[in-house]
Amino acid sequence: MGKLFGTNGVRGVANRDMNPELALKLGQSLGTFLPEGARVLIATDTRTSNEMLASALAAGLLSAGARVTLAGVATTPALQYAVKTRGFDAGAVVTASHNPPEFNGIKFIDGDGTEFPATKEDAVEKVYFDNAFRQVAWSALSGVGRLEGVNEAYVDGILAKVDVAAIRARKFKIVLDTSNGAGGLTAPYLLTKLGCHVVTMNAQPDGTFPGHDSEPTPDNVKDLVKSVAAFGADLGVVQDGDADRCVFVDEKGHYQYGDRTLAIIAGQIVRAKRGGTVVTPVSSSTAIEDYVKANGGKVVYTRVGAPVVARKMIEIKADFGGEENGGLIFPEFQYCRDASMALAKVLEIIAKTSKPLSALAAEVPAYALHKAKVTCPDAKKAAVLAAFAKAHAAGKVDTTDGVKVYTSEGWVLVRPSGTEPIVRVYAEAKTAEAASALAEKSLKEIQALVNA
Ligand code: MG
Repeated sequence: MGKLFGTNGVRGVANRDMNPELALKLGQSLGTFLPEGARVLIATDTRTSNEMLASALAAGLLSAGARVTLAGVATTPALQYAVKTRGFDAGAVVTASHNPPEFNGIKFIDGDGTEFPATKEDAVEKVYFDNAFRQVAWSALSGVGRLEGVNEAYVDGILAKVDVAAIRARKFKIVLDTSNGAGGLTAPYLLTKLGCHVVTMNAQPDGTFPGHDSEPTPDNVKDLVKSVAAFGADLGVVQDGDADRCVFVDEKGHYQYGDRTLAIIAGQIVRAKRGGTVVTPVSSSTAIEDYVKANGGKVVYTRVGAPVVARKMIEIKADFGGEENGGLIFPEFQYCRDASMALAKVLEIIAKTSKPLSALAAEVPAYALHKAKVTCPDAKKAAVLAAFAKAHAAGKVDTTDGVKVYTSEGWVLVRPSGTEPIVRVYAEAKTAEAASALAEKSLKEIQALVNA
């Protein structure tokens, strides 16, 4: 059986891998997996291939007896909020998130607004590869409904979860880059309602992504960094194409990596609550755990992947969670990555602590991460990882996802790639030199195990 779903749904180049036939069959598969008559809400980001794929997906769902409602262009978290609050049985987002414009994808959402868990993806995939589609009688087919105002309801939902008065009182000046994605339909209006003076960049929805590629890397957001300084703004923020992830630029014009923002928010949340639990994958920086502990909370680690983090948060009633890539999850609002909620929360923290983002970031300990990889045949991966864990068994070893070995300098995480014949090595330490030395040492050990 093939594997359709990656870590974030099904992805591919539009009209090549990600074509109408695939979208149709995915719709039939989801519709068959769900009970007959299930209500499914579909939204898209701003890509040129969206209508083609959403139409095919809807046709497949209808064929299997689902009732389909279209929400038009909406951010992924806005769609997730609508699925949860409007009583839909499931949702589907047509988006390739931060991928280049020629890509597209389809991601399924559970009735509670969370991303589909792997177990449900596997069940849908089984229907897909078995071609075991339910085809309802002509008399059981339904039409397509439309839901207006998904983005507006989402913005109102965020406003109900932050201290609007405290934020409005600060009259923030913000430079906002929505990467020509769906975030242009939510974030500017959220900021306006929060009393901010908003300077927008790439805010017009445009599936050719004329501003820059929609992954919020330092290279892609050079214009934003310059603009924060030029406008004397309090903050810069960039959202990815479907606005579930965001990255901040502080008032001094420094790009703040996602792990630092995650640490800042986590620390401030547990400080305000006088304790609490933060969930993040084992690949996240120790800076998060250091800062959370210093503020009276604790960190729980999971396997890599936002749905895994979200489900662990639900299970242990965590106070906050997220990934180092800028995907932040606020349980008081919803159990999914949410760029606009993150933006509102950062403004609330700056307003309430009276500290600019650069000062908050300076409180978080600095670490250096070194990434490397070793070629390793798929068949050997499990044995290599087991041997690496065994070789370090005398010390602290975490096998939550791959093998994470703690050393006196920091840690090394060894994870097999799910798609390529390689093993990835991440090493973190206090300095770049120490991290690189740690990675080199581990690379040699792993290479020896691969050769053995
Ligand atoms: Mg995204």
